[in-house]
Amino acid sequence: MAILVLFDIDGTLVDCGAASGKGFSKAFHEAFGVPCPIFAPADVAGFTDSAILAEVVSRLGLQCDDFEQRRALAFEIYARNLAREFQTLPPRELPGAASAVRAVRSMPGLAVGLLTGSTAATARIKLESAGIDFRQFVCGAYSEDAGSRGALPAVARARFVDLFGQEPRRTILIGDTPLDVEAAHASGSDFIGVTTGHYDRAALERAGAEIVFDDLTETEPLCRAIEELRRN
Ligand SMILES: [Mg+2]
Repeated sequence: MAILVLFDIDGTLVDCGAASGKGFSKAFHEAFGVPCPIFAPADVAGFTDSAILAEVVSRLGLQCDDFEQRRALAFEIYARNLAREFQTLPPRELPGAASAVRAVRSMPGLAVGLLTGSTAATARIKLESAGIDFRQFVCGAYSEDAGSRGALPAVARARFVDLFGQEPRRTILIGDTPLDVEAAHASGSDFIGVTTGHYDRAALERAGAEIVFDDLTETEPLCRAIEELRRN
């Protein structure tokens, strides 16, 4: 294995609709005892869940000695809420997502993982509720691994080393937000963008994306783009 391809989840593989915000707000209220301010999804697109929680705490000016325990509790309740919300309204697989992951996984010498602002627990719930097998991703980096998305590629790479005993020769992030582009470039990774989230092609290109697809339906150009990056 020489190349690590990391898929983002929200806006790239699935659309969770209002369920994430709703499940998160309720969990925050229950764990911290105060209502969670409402965010527009675009305000927090690309943020890790830990960064969103930190933003909420700072907006509210909350100070509590048992912050760590409350945060852990909030994420535990959030995962439960999300699983329950999805029973009535499951997340939508974004166009071509499952087959794109399958196509990339079938490329030789390549490992496919996740790089997401979700916690590991909610990543699994989101994907599996949308009918995408979580276990096919050999490694991942999640919200609990770092405060910001920019620190996640290094975590995913370290997990790749644990698995394969060597650094990946290249890391490619596939995501939908300018923060994904930033995380890729700041970590020396390549980036492939999709416009199935809150950002259009121009926004991703302004952030520095060189390869952008409308969605993941066309697996051939996607695999070709990965092949070209691999050869560079
Ligand atoms: Mg995303």
